[in-house]
Amino acid sequence: MNQSIKNRIEVVGGDITKQAVDAIVNAANTTLLGGGGVDGAIHRAAGPELLEECRKLGGCPTGQARITKGYKLPAKWVIHTVGPVWRDGKHGEDDLLAGCYRNSLALAEQNGVKTIAFPSISTGAYGFPMERAAKTAVTEIKKFLERKSSIEKVLLVCFGNGAFEIHQQAVREVVG
Ligand code: ADP
Repeated sequence: MNQSIKNRIEVVGGDITKQAVDAIVNAANTTLLGGGGVDGAIHRAAGPELLEECRKLGGCPTGQARITKGYKLPAKWVIHTVGPVWRDGKHGEDDLLAGCYRNSLALAEQNGVKTIAFPSISTGAYGFPMERAAKTAVTEIKKFLERKSSIEKVLLVCFGNGAFEIHQQAVREVVG
């Protein structure tokens, strides 16, 4: 069982906008109107039609997710989720972050997604410690994959110094 889950989670380095998967996840903000970091990169790569569709969604609460088309991206879909801003870890940050992964995966499944790529949600501008975020990410992904078989592959796309090692370590610790 652990072996098959392990085969369905892959840690990769690089730019999420280049991933040839059915859906990529965007670490958005509650307005869904674009921003910096991975959000800015996704909007630039997808083109202006993405922002047009996002405008119609009317925002998204922290921990929840919304889906749009991918436009000029290789991915067919973009799943926009809003990570928590890190305060001190005592303001529900872990649960909200877990919700981002759970709700994004549920939306993906409802839309027939078989392959999906996540960035490290909340670990940039929102300041969530990456080791802790990576453990939550892998824990939620593992739980989902154990329950549902339709999603074949989940990529954890690591960007910047140390991210790859941190996510590989989290997979070793959580999945084995
Ligand atoms: P947040 O506001 O949720 O913290 P950020 O975009 O600031 O979102 O950062 C989230 C993570 O995404 C960070 O670890 C950052 O290094 C990473 N990141 C930034 N650009 C990209 C990209 N093009 N592809 C994948 N990950 C990226």
